[in-house]
Amino acid sequence: MCGIFAYIGRKNNASELVLLGLKLMEYRGYDSWGVASKMQTIRKTSDKRKNENKSQFEVEKHVGKIGDAILSRKLKYTSNLSIGHTRWATHGGVLEKNAHPHLDCSKNIAVVHNGIIENYVELKELLLRKGHQFTSETDTEIIPHLIEENLKTKGFATSVRDTFNQLKGMNAVVVAYSLSSEIVAAKNGSPLVVGKSSDGFMIASDTAGIIKYTNEVLFIKDDEMVILGKNITLLTLPDGKKITPHFTKVNWKIEDTSLGKYQHYMLKEIYEQPKVIRNIAENYTQQIHTLGQIIKKSKGTFFIGAGSAAYACLSGTYLFSKIARLHVNMAFASEFNYLEDFLNSKSLIIALSQSGETIDIVEPLTRAKSKKSKIVAIVNVLGSTLYRMADYKLLLGAGPEKAVASTKAYVAKLAVLYSLSFSMIGETDKAKGDLLTVAHEIERILEPKFAKEIEKIAKFLKNAIHIYTIGRGASYPTALEAAMKIKEVSYVHTEGLSGGELKHGPLALISKGSPCIVFAPNDETYDAIISNATEIKSRGGVIIGISPFNNSVFDYWLEVKNLGEASIIAQIVPIQLLAYHMALLKKLDPDKPRNLAKSVTVK
Ligand code: GLU
Repeated sequence: MCGIFAYIGRKNNASELVLLGLKLMEYRGYDSWGVASKMQTIRKTSDKRKNENKSQFEVEKHVGKIGDAILSRKLKYTSNLSIGHTRWATHGGVLEKNAHPHLDCSKNIAVVHNGIIENYVELKELLLRKGHQFTSETDTEIIPHLIEENLKTKGFATSVRDTFNQLKGMNAVVVAYSLSSEIVAAKNGSPLVVGKSSDGFMIASDTAGIIKYTNEVLFIKDDEMVILGKNITLLTLPDGKKITPHFTKVNWKIEDTSLGKYQHYMLKEIYEQPKVIRNIAENYTQQIHTLGQIIKKSKGTFFIGAGSAAYACLSGTYLFSKIARLHVNMAFASEFNYLEDFLNSKSLIIALSQSGETIDIVEPLTRAKSKKSKIVAIVNVLGSTLYRMADYKLLLGAGPEKAVASTKAYVAKLAVLYSLSFSMIGETDKAKGDLLTVAHEIERILEPKFAKEIEKIAKFLKNAIHIYTIGRGASYPTALEAAMKIKEVSYVHTEGLSGGELKHGPLALISKGSPCIVFAPNDETYDAIISNATEIKSRGGVIIGISPFNNSVFDYWLEVKNLGEASIIAQIVPIQLLAYHMALLKKLDPDKPRNLAKSVTVK
């Protein structure tokens, strides 16, 4: 969600640099974008000495994709100070006027912002009373005007600091000032990273925007602010004390993110899953063993995640109980804030995340850290906020996941949790063998013959109003993840349920033709889930079975071979494909579902 990129330096194509930086961070998700660049205009008068030399910001804003965008002529002029943003609307509609950057009345201050200003209404009222003119509906626009007010009595950097300290909420703010040719940034939530190159500085939401220009980076910590001009100054936010900035050299390579032969990233990433699982089977033994030892030493282990990662956490609780005979807790990361009063220095929190930037994870972990609890990150993005804050880190190694709907990162998390459960009882070899079999089975599911059957079911489901997915035991989280996948990319309302819960309410929704996807692996849940499927069918439901066996209750059958407890990894794959094909049939872009972002950086 939201991408920030700003440049100040000796190069005079700052607008172009900013546009490219934003494009490199496009995957984060956004609905509109904008760039502001400092322009020098000289208004000639009859008396040469009285020529007016003005430097203000020129802004260009658009709703929609930045992918192939080129800047209009007005921003193509030479500038060495530019600031840009991809917005994911929280306050104010998805409209051009609400896109960032936002300017003050004098047009000398340009601001981009990630987050939510919880007290913006009262601050805006104050500014309106003072005569400030607003052009957008956003919370963000109060920032340049507050700075403008502060500038009446203070210097630029102090004005930004005092303004930031007035804001409630978790925010990252980058401000450019045309009169002093400086950028000041401050944060207490979303990520910001500074890059230093031979010609100047840039600041961005993540290294993906910067790494093309330089590998010398400085991660801004919460409650810090940075001043970028000819030099760099790093300060603490509450009291403005100077800190020495320590740049680190990152040797991350730019990973291949081309589509190759695939039409969409979602499909490409689904097809990469066997490779991802093989990698974990073959190369993770030592890391997983170390993590197992950390768990053994803790008093209370909590798995936390958001969205698909949360469902992977829930699967972890079943795997740990069944295989390792250990109790572990699971919480939705956004709820963990309200559940963590009992955490102490012996508690262990294992956070699962693809991006490692999810605010819903970063926020409770910051609080857990202050209680001295240990943090483990199981994360896909190297150098992400979660990666940097964890005491122990395990990279998923799934490669860049660009489609918003998670596929390969989800199965990678399951593969790690599966190996981890076996590692707890000293049976890593068994886990390795099982994962290799899973990779093989997924390859079979990805064959064209199988896809034909899925396309047939997608045609049947595409016009459904409601779909139900059910599972029991370790397949219950699969039912939740399956429902999520279908919702995300096909926009068909889908509800995931545990088979046992049906009779406690949801069965009232079933009528003639209600489609229900049933996960029926060869385990102790088989008979009970088939009974639940039969109950649905008796009320007119249409049953799509995901199972090693073609039971007579199934109207459609998608075979997933018996893989024991590892079945949960392979049985989601047919549904990923089903969701993808439903999106295509409905002429939707499966990679960029409406309203969603890959990197969730606002609460
Ligand atoms: N709250 C701001 C807005 O709605 C910032 C959103 C963002 O982080 O992209 O404009």
